[in-house]
Amino acid sequence: MKRFLVLLLALILVIPPMTASAGFNKHLPTALMTMKFQCGCSGKGCGVMVGRYGLLTAGHNLYCRYHGQGLKSCEFLFGATSAYVGKRKYYNGFRYVVYDTFRKGYSPDWDIGYVIFKYDVGKNTGWYNPRVASDKDLKNRGAHIAYYNNSYRFGDDFMTNVSVKDSTLLYLSEYPSGDCAGPVFLWDNDMAYVIGVVAAKSDGTVYATRLTQQVYDDMRNDGAFD
Ligand SMILES: [Zn+2]
Repeated sequence: MKRFLVLLLALILVIPPMTASAGFNKHLPTALMTMKFQCGCSGKGCGVMVGRYGLLTAGHNLYCRYHGQGLKSCEFLFGATSAYVGKRKYYNGFRYVVYDTFRKGYSPDWDIGYVIFKYDVGKNTGWYNPRVASDKDLKNRGAHIAYYNNSYRFGDDFMTNVSVKDSTLLYLSEYPSGDCAGPVFLWDNDMAYVIGVVAAKSDGTVYATRLTQQVYDDMRNDGAFD
């Protein structure tokens, strides 16, 4: 699968001073994204830090799923407690990679992408562990979804059953309301392991797009986990 890479100019805004975090916090690494696309569409979405520099999110948060146009701007509000208030905000100094630009129409198959920040965002937010889950790992497995709801309230305890559809997609039995496209994660030994992201709801079935070995390797090679 061909990759598409987009560069945005580097500037950064860091809002409050960092506070020491004790233990793993699922909220802080989860960004409420406010997207504006080149086609004029806009929206809200979710992404999650999976390393110091890398944020995993749905492809449709990076390219408009209706018009196949990339981001014009995006604000990442980490630890958001409302649409505008959170712990850290970044709106520049990043580039992003997607695997489908939806120019030929939307499909959940490669509705995944990632953002590489120029700065060590994870130092301030912490991050979820990325995991390339095998089909065997996912057999009869419950998973969780982190999300911001339509009122921009964070939730991290949403539970769903996952089952494998194919090499890129999982079926989800349940999903939170709203259009956040949050991370799907397994909870093992008090740590969260992200295995995919909720795809856009296109035909009534809800899928998660899997974090594949290819995406993981691309993220690593792009410095997401440095
Ligand atoms: Zn659009």
